[in-house]
Amino acid sequence: MGRVHLSVPHMGGREEGYVREAFASNWLSSVGPQLDAFERAFGERLGRPAVALASGTAAIHLGLRLLGVGPGDEVIVSDFTFVASVNPILYLGATPVFVDSEPGSWMMSPALLEEALAERGRRGRPPRAVVVVHLYGQCADLDPIAALCRAHGVPLLEDAAEALGASYRGRPAGSFGDLAAFSFNGNKIITTTGGGVLASPRADWIDKARYWSTQAREPGPAYHHVEVGYNYRMSNVLAAIGRGQLEVLDERVRQRRAVEARYRAALSDLPGVEFMPEAAYGLHTHWLTCLTLDPARAGATRDEVLAALAAEDIEARPLWKPMHLQPLHAHWPRHGGEVSAGLFARGLCLPSSSSLTLADQHRVIEVVRRTARRAAAPARAPAEAGVAFAGAAAAVAPAG
Ligand SMILES: *Cc1c(COP(=O)(O)O)cnc(C)c1O
Repeated sequence: MGRVHLSVPHMGGREEGYVREAFASNWLSSVGPQLDAFERAFGERLGRPAVALASGTAAIHLGLRLLGVGPGDEVIVSDFTFVASVNPILYLGATPVFVDSEPGSWMMSPALLEEALAERGRRGRPPRAVVVVHLYGQCADLDPIAALCRAHGVPLLEDAAEALGASYRGRPAGSFGDLAAFSFNGNKIITTTGGGVLASPRADWIDKARYWSTQAREPGPAYHHVEVGYNYRMSNVLAAIGRGQLEVLDERVRQRRAVEARYRAALSDLPGVEFMPEAAYGLHTHWLTCLTLDPARAGATRDEVLAALAAEDIEARPLWKPMHLQPLHAHWPRHGGEVSAGLFARGLCLPSSSSLTLADQHRVIEVVRRTARRAAAPARAPAEAGVAFAGAAAAVAPAG
């Protein structure tokens, strides 16, 4: 039996043909028809102009620079996220301000965002930008978040790296903010092996980002430079992969959702196990299937479940470690932090590839059930409750 990975690339079949086109044309670098076609297809899907870049992190970096973020500025950002949402704030010499999640969606709390904005408004020093992160395939609650940003005159950047294919009240993730960043890293819902997109309703901003992404080279044959640029452009070869991947995105969303639905059906009777809540306001892609484990009721800690899975050559991971718990970022200002800390302490992601076989998924389910089984027994065998409860108590005591 092979290793079961958390999330692996899943080609649709037409990617190689597009890559062959790129080779045949000899456009193998940072210019070419595959890039144009990929950006066009992506932009049409989202309803906004888009530029293809080397990574999602590069997209966030350029997006924040477009918003004028610089030394001395504050940028409000979700506390519960991957570190790449925050590092570009530091690249620009600005200060991140972390806002905790709400328990209902696991995403940025509008109430705490309001607190953070109001406090800075009173001081007459509004933040330069808000970065809202859409986690694990679901959008944050965008209506109140966007309304707060408008009311305070602060631009909004959506970190949609994990939410390509998700929607909020019928509109795609990444079509709400002044800017949105996407990622095609190897573990995301579709991949170009590595890459990203920055999108915005402002075509002039997207042109500017494209210019910065190729070393801010001025037109003309001479190497003439007026602004600082970066080597951030996606290659024409990787854009060819992206074209093929984009064609199967909707299928990948259906497959990831089906993976989560099978886990939910097989595991949600376990006491103390709770799946990531699916908010009523949109479509959750379930890029990763996430759940939390209450050790007192489940009879096993998160780390015991992770260890049992690892022993069977199954890759699972804790949920994101919040930024305020990172040695790198612990000293920045924050609003809240208890919700994200609680999710990190108890939460994990299960293998969620769109190509996950039923046999492999059953292996995962069997290990999780076996690890939490003794605690689950009373719920499933009420007739033997007296005996089973005694067993469950014995099983729970050492963990508690
Ligand atoms: C993956 C990810 C990124 C970064 O994307 P890369 O393409 O790996 O640079 C940013 N934010 C979040 C929330 C992510 O999950």
